[in-house]
Amino acid sequence: MKAEELKIRVKDALESQRRQLIQLSLTIHDNPELGFQEEKASTWLTDYLESRGFQVERGIAGLPTAFQARYGQGKPRLALLAEYDALPKLGHGCGHNIIAASAIGAGIASKLVVDQLGGSIVVLGTPGEESLGGKIDMVKAGVFQEIDAAMMVHPGVRNIVTVQALASIPLDVEFFGKSAHAAAQPHKAVNALEALILAFNSINSLRQHIKEEARIHGVITDGGEAPNIVPDHSAARFLIRALDYAYLEELKEKVLNCFKGASLASGAKLKYNWGDKIYAPMKNNLILARLFGQNLESVGCHVEAFDPSFGFGSTDMGNVSQVVPSMHPMVAIASLEVSLHTSEFASAAASEAGHKGLLNAAKAMAMTVVDILSQPETLDKIKQEFYSHD
Ligand SMILES: [Zn+2]
Ligand SMILES: [Zn+2]
Repeated sequence: MKAEELKIRVKDALESQRRQLIQLSLTIHDNPELGFQEEKASTWLTDYLESRGFQVERGIAGLPTAFQARYGQGKPRLALLAEYDALPKLGHGCGHNIIAASAIGAGIASKLVVDQLGGSIVVLGTPGEESLGGKIDMVKAGVFQEIDAAMMVHPGVRNIVTVQALASIPLDVEFFGKSAHAAAQPHKAVNALEALILAFNSINSLRQHIKEEARIHGVITDGGEAPNIVPDHSAARFLIRALDYAYLEELKEKVLNCFKGASLASGAKLKYNWGDKIYAPMKNNLILARLFGQNLESVGCHVEAFDPSFGFGSTDMGNVSQVVPSMHPMVAIASLEVSLHTSEFASAAASEAGHKGLLNAAKAMAMTVVDILSQPETLDKIKQEFYSHD
């Protein structure tokens, strides 16, 4: 069967599942679960895949809510990645319900491609994207060792095939001072909150002189108990992000110096801890991304011109993209002024536009599977590009 005919068949297969996929997306949306607690979502997704002929393994890579679902035995092996974690208070403000439903839909539609052309499809359930870096654990556990290319689609406000995702590392800090009555005996105190405020101000000064794409941002997680007690403890969590690891290292030292300086100035002792979940920058495979873009155009979406600097923040798909050729395109489900990680975006993820984005993402992804499995030289080119970057 010709590739064009297979593409029509995968689109038909997705149209015939439209109702179930939207239902799956809405059910996950209505039941938001935080990272590594996505028990319901992973159960619904794996049950759905199992009932449609996938061989499912639950709880892989030491993560109870991660899974892999295989169809076919042959090579090449193409992975379709589902995310399904929500944000605190905002629910699905990042629209991961759409990522999940589109990956599952594309996986099921790709069965007929595998039946015709060989190869295999692996739908991977990747939990805890927002801050716990589930994919980092999955990469370490070797889940991607046998995978030839990895694909996912994130909902957004533009149809765009590549994103610039930054390397990112978390930093936890604490200051330890000495409390006293804030009015009667302030001279006896060492103010841990002031130390933290000093550090924030130093970082604000530093921010004027860092590279354009780099980011430093944090929240205070302990700022004292009462205004009449000088806080003897304060704590904050920061994220430091940069385009590459080399600049991230440079920034880490500069940021840490802000805290050390504040410690010296205030007399409060500093304790800090760099997180071990380091998000890698996204290495977009352009051949893969452009194939997806052409398929997305063909289902009626206007895909924007290639923009290598379109920023996204950070994603643990970056870590996957360092070990296998990967793509992380975005499909528009809301207007340009809407920002991800807001309640407006959460509403969009359950709207008509969200459903449309889900179906289009799934169709374009399954059509990209057709492109790769029908022409072996396509994967060769994808791999050539991947290795030529190193
Ligand atoms: Zn997010
Ligand atoms: Zn997201």
